Amino acid sequence: MDKIKFGRLTFIQGQKGGRYPFCNSLCIDDREKVVIDPGSDERLLKKFDMEKGIDIIINSHYHEDHTSFNYLFPEAKLYVHEDDAPCFKSIERLLDFYGLLGTNLEHTWRGLLVNHFHYRERTPNLEFKDGDLLNFGDTSLQVIHTPGHTIGHSSFFFPEEEVLFLGDLDMTAFGPWYGDRVSDIDQTIVSLHKLLTIPARIFITSHEAGIIEGDIAELAEDYLGIINRREDTLLNFLEKPRTLDEIVNQWIIYKKPREPRDFFELGERGMIKNHLSRLIKKKIVNTKENKYHLL
Ligand SMILES: [Zn+2]
Repeated sequence: MDKIKFGRLTFIQGQKGGRYPFCNSLCIDDREKVVIDPGSDERLLKKFDMEKGIDIIINSHYHEDHTSFNYLFPEAKLYVHEDDAPCFKSIERLLDFYGLLGTNLEHTWRGLLVNHFHYRERTPNLEFKDGDLLNFGDTSLQVIHTPGHTIGHSSFFFPEEEVLFLGDLDMTAFGPWYGDRVSDIDQTIVSLHKLLTIPARIFITSHEAGIIEGDIAELAEDYLGIINRREDTLLNFLEKPRTLDEIVNQWIIYKKPREPRDFFELGERGMIKNHLSRLIKKKIVNTKENKYHLL
């Protein structure tokens, strides 16, 4: 499976089965030719461009695995959600949203984003928002703002095709990811519930499964359940006061240290910090002398 069609929509599976550092793409072949998230497969994206000519790139959010082949299509217009737009215009803002600015990983990441993921500052031609209806000929797309993963993360509904592009609310066994400085666990939950109200019959995920047909309610429940399991494990570990480093070293999110270590530790730390903020907000946890403790 590398290409599957739904009317004028074509699903392109990312390399490595759509696993990081790749994602799946969705192309629209209408009066205007569109690619959602050109992070899938350089060869197939170039082929689509050669045969049709890509007019518009839509990014569901600013993450590097979704934008890595944007640079191949400099003439295309860029459409992104208004809340994520600053990260496309400026690498400083991108590093800031990740929570990397001023950290010892900033330099490495700046290089990685530019050299490996081909990050190029680019001013979006359109900054969309929740509810916007975009038309590309006979195909219309409804923007569904689904923040939490990033603040501007968006999903896209094609009413005629009954296709819903979920983006990184991807229903994987790993569970939801919310490791950026601007990520938010409660918003992730609200966003997923919002998606369950959309009358779709085909769901496109950015990673792994790629295409899910039928009802996703049960899958979504399991997916969200992972948040509670992570939180329960964290609360158990807080049976006595712990520093952030001690908690991160437990690998509650990724289960075990993974390589490249710097990369996964950054994700682990970001996700744990967001769990701790949530627990502090709920008055279940507090901090004293650099240690987190139960209330
Ligand atoms: Zn992402």
